[in-house]
Amino acid sequence: MFVSSVSFVMVCLLVLLGGAALHAAPDMPGADFIPSPNFNARAPERVPIDVVVLHSTCMPTNETDETVRLFQSAASKVSSHYVVGKDGRIVQMVSEQNRAWHAGVCLWQGRTDINSCSVGIEMVHQDQTPGDDWPDAQMEAVARLLLSIRARHRVPNDHIIFHSECAYPVGRKTDPQGFDRARLLRMTALLALPK
Ligand SMILES: [Zn+2]
Repeated sequence: MFVSSVSFVMVCLLVLLGGAALHAAPDMPGADFIPSPNFNARAPERVPIDVVVLHSTCMPTNETDETVRLFQSAASKVSSHYVVGKDGRIVQMVSEQNRAWHAGVCLWQGRTDINSCSVGIEMVHQDQTPGDDWPDAQMEAVARLLLSIRARHRVPNDHIIFHSECAYPVGRKTDPQGFDRARLLRMTALLALPK
C-alpha cells in the first residue's frame, strides 16, 4: 500500500514536471514559446553552453509557421531552440536548459555532440533561392537574441558558428548561405553598449 502510494505520488510529480517543461516560459523575455517535443537532456557531463549554431530553414516558403509546424511534429525528429522570422518574430521551441536537435552529426574543435553544448537558431531563409535576402528586421532580432543568450551563457564571438562549419562530414550541410556574420557581431556589440 505504502509503496503504491509513493509510486502514485512519483507519477504525479513526473506528470507535473513534464507539463512544466512543455509549458515553460521563454528564456528570452518577449519571445513566443511554442513547444517542440523534439529534445532531450544535455550531455550528463554538463558541458557548458558556449556555442551558438546559426542555420537557414531552407523550407519551401518563407513562412515562420511552416518551420514551427515542422518542429512541433514528433515525426520530424528535428527542432531548434529558436526560430527567427523574416519579420523579426522570435519563437522559442526548446528551453535552453534542454538539448535541441538541430546540428546532427558534427565535428567541430574536437567536439562531436554540438547539440549538447550549443543553442540552435533557425533563421527563416531559402538558401536554395538565389537572391533571398536577410532583412534588417531579421538581423536585428537575431542580434537581440544573441545578446539575450549571452546574458545567460558565455559565448565568445568565435563560437558563433554556421551549421556548415560544424556538420560532419564536411559538406553535409551548407547553411546559412550569404549570411553576414560580421554584421551580426557588430549589431550585437552595439546593442550591448550602455544606453
Ligand atoms: Zn542547419
